[in-house]
Amino acid sequence: MVIILKQDAKQDEVNELLDWIKAQNVEPKTMIGESQRILGLIGNTQAVDIDAVTTFPAVESVRRIAEPYKLANRKFHPHDTVVDVSGYKIGGGNFQVIAGPCSVESEQQVISIAESVKKSGAHLLRGGAFKPRTSPYAFQGLKAEGIKYLLEAKKETGMPIVSELMSMEHIDLFNDVDVIQVGARNMQNFVMLRELGGCDKPILLKRGLANTLEELLMSAEYIMAGGNNNVILCERGIRSFDHATRNVLDLSAIPVLKRLTHLPVIVDPSHATGQSALVESMSLAAVAAGADGLIIEVHNNPKAALCDGAQSLDFPSFEKLMKKVNTLKACVDSLNS
Ligand code: PEP
Ligand code: MN
Repeated sequence: MVIILKQDAKQDEVNELLDWIKAQNVEPKTMIGESQRILGLIGNTQAVDIDAVTTFPAVESVRRIAEPYKLANRKFHPHDTVVDVSGYKIGGGNFQVIAGPCSVESEQQVISIAESVKKSGAHLLRGGAFKPRTSPYAFQGLKAEGIKYLLEAKKETGMPIVSELMSMEHIDLFNDVDVIQVGARNMQNFVMLRELGGCDKPILLKRGLANTLEELLMSAEYIMAGGNNNVILCERGIRSFDHATRNVLDLSAIPVLKRLTHLPVIVDPSHATGQSALVESMSLAAVAAGADGLIIEVHNNPKAALCDGAQSLDFPSFEKLMKKVNTLKACVDSLNS
C-alpha cells in the first residue's frame, strides 16, 4: 500500500498517521520525492482498511500495490535509485561501463586488462575469481588468489572492482571488493540474497537463465528487505530454442524494468550473445534502449582465455566500442533532454 501525503501536511498530522499505521502491525517507510512525500507500507497490508487511511488529514490519496515486490516497485519510490560505487554513479541518468576478463587468470593478466580498459574509458573493472561452470572439470577460477590479483589491479589503476560471490562462506574475501555480483545461476539463491541484504555493498543482480522479470524483481526485493537498497539489475540474455546466439538478449527488459522499478538496469552483451562479433551492436542497442550501463568481457588474448574467450573483446575492439558507445550515449541524452 502506498500513501501520498498532502504537500502541506503538518508534522503532528503525519505523526498521528504513523502511530495508527504502526498499530496495524505494518511498517511505514517514508520516501521524499521531488514533488511528493510518500509512505510505503510493508507487511501484511491486506488487513489495513483503505477507507480508514483516507480519513487522516495528512493523506492526499492511497492505493494498494498489486505487485508482490514493494521496495523495488516504482510506485513505492517514484524517483530513480542512484547506486554510488566508490564515487562512480549508476542510474538516474548516470551511465557506467564495467569491463574486464571473464576470469582472473594471473596478476599480470588482470592488471594489463585493467590498464587497457581504463585507457579506453571504462571506470569499473570486472573479473571472476569464483566461476560457476557447467562442467566440474572446467577451470573453476583462482578463488582467493583471484581476488588478491583483482585488488592489486584496483591498487594499480584506482578502478573499483566487481566480482561474483558464489557462496556466503567466501564473503570475508570480498571485504575490499566494491560490487558483489550475484550470477545468473544464483539469482534465486534466497539464502544468499537474504544475507546480502545485511551488507552495505552494491549488489549486481543478474537475471537467471529462465527467469521472468517479476522473479528478478522478487530477488531484488529479498536483498532490499534486508536493508540493502543498492541493487543494480542486469539483463544478460535468457534461454530460448534458437542456438544461433548463446542466449537471447531481451532488450525490452530495459524499458519494462524501468517502468516497474526505480533500480538501475545494466546490460551484459557478452553472455547474452556468446560471440565477440555481436557485442558492439548489442551494446549500442542497449544504450539506445535506455540502459544505465554495460558489463563487457575483455581479454588480452581472447583465443587463449581460460573461460568465455569466444565472447571476449580484444583491446582494439573494446576501444572502438567505447568510442561508439560514448557518441551514441551523448546523442540519446540530447534526444531525451
Ligand atoms: C560472468 O559474469 O562471468 C557470468 C558467469 O555471468 P552469468 O551469471 O550472467 O552467466
Ligand atoms: Mn563469463
